[in-house]
Amino acid sequence: MKKTIRDFNLKGKRVLIRVDFNVPLDKELRITDDNRIQASLPTIQHALEQGAYVILMSHLGRPEGKQVSSMSLTPASKRLSELIGKNVIQCSDCVGARVKEELKVLDAESPVAVLENLRFSPLEEKNDAEFARQLAENGDIYINDAFGSSHRAHASIEAITKYLPSGAGFLLSKEIEYFEKAVSHPERPYITILGGAKVTDKIKLILSLMDRADTILIGGAMAYTFYRVMGIKIGNSKFEEKGLPFAEEILKKAKIKNTDIQFPVDRVISQEFKENAVSRIVEGDIPDGWMGMDIGPKTVAKYKDTLSKAKLIVWNGPMGVFEMRPFDNGTRALMEHVASLTGKVTTIIGGGDTAAAAAHFHLEDKMSHVSTGGGASLEYLEGTPLPGVVALEDKEKVHA
Ligand code: AMP
Repeated sequence: MKKTIRDFNLKGKRVLIRVDFNVPLDKELRITDDNRIQASLPTIQHALEQGAYVILMSHLGRPEGKQVSSMSLTPASKRLSELIGKNVIQCSDCVGARVKEELKVLDAESPVAVLENLRFSPLEEKNDAEFARQLAENGDIYINDAFGSSHRAHASIEAITKYLPSGAGFLLSKEIEYFEKAVSHPERPYITILGGAKVTDKIKLILSLMDRADTILIGGAMAYTFYRVMGIKIGNSKFEEKGLPFAEEILKKAKIKNTDIQFPVDRVISQEFKENAVSRIVEGDIPDGWMGMDIGPKTVAKYKDTLSKAKLIVWNGPMGVFEMRPFDNGTRALMEHVASLTGKVTTIIGGGDTAAAAAHFHLEDKMSHVSTGGGASLEYLEGTPLPGVVALEDKEKVHA
């Protein structure tokens, strides 16, 4: 068990929180979606309520180690100031004497500061120890609340924990709590739904789930790479040439291990990759000139039936092109079903496209947990330890 922000006495302390303020900006540098800032509020508010000074740090975009003014965190600190109704100090950099001066003005009236984009320094992504030590000088306690970056051993995520007492914020601790349910002690039957476009992204995950999960349900374009190996004709469907040997390996292993890995029995096909294109449903081969866009109704019924027996459901990757009607039906129907099971069943939605699909169908609040990190959730589920989680202090450890 990792320490959380609740395990520290924060009164009068400078709490250095690694947040994810990597928000989308338009050309005028206006934030187009402030969800990530909103999501960090519980941890920030808790620290403020406990009488702490809050110093936030984040990356934004890919400035590649250079100062890029369009990637400043200024719009994020302005938005945060509006949300918390308090003055927020935007620092000119993330380390150094000038930042120390700027942080001296933290007081009861202005208890929050945001350090400038961590990735303006090339040392952040290098997990540089000296850079991490300088970052750590800005605080007394380090809290990680940036799950989406915790699979990266970067200075603000990993090396910094060597210089300060450390723990997880509320967002990160919820991610750990739910992913641990899947990785360490899954309730059974544990059923996973895997979709999306690429097999190669998920090979490690599939191989690891063969040992951990009871059933694996496959959908999305990923299924067509498997069909190619199985000798089912896929017409013009999207598939991954590079993924073919891996799909073959997975099928061989599944046979040896007797894994319950299920593939769609029917598919919604179209001749055009566009919204409202004419579609048909087929079982078996896809005719030339047509491509698979979604799982069909028989597959939806079969998967729903299987899922009804689950105690734990983990979903990673959409079942079809959910962004376009009518090819959203399969993902929507299964997601509504999974949502209806929540409560009796622990339901976990991996981040990235699957979380986007849950938001698209307005079902985010109907799941036990929707992860905020795509890559990080994939690695967690694979059983790959996340550097940002491993580095945090364990609960038992007592600090002088
Ligand atoms: P991934 O990033 O691998 O999780 O893939 C997500 C993307 O896969 C989504 O944008 C879906 O539109 C796309 N996708 C799912 N099923 C299909 C399909 N049958 N054909 C083409 N794209 C698909």
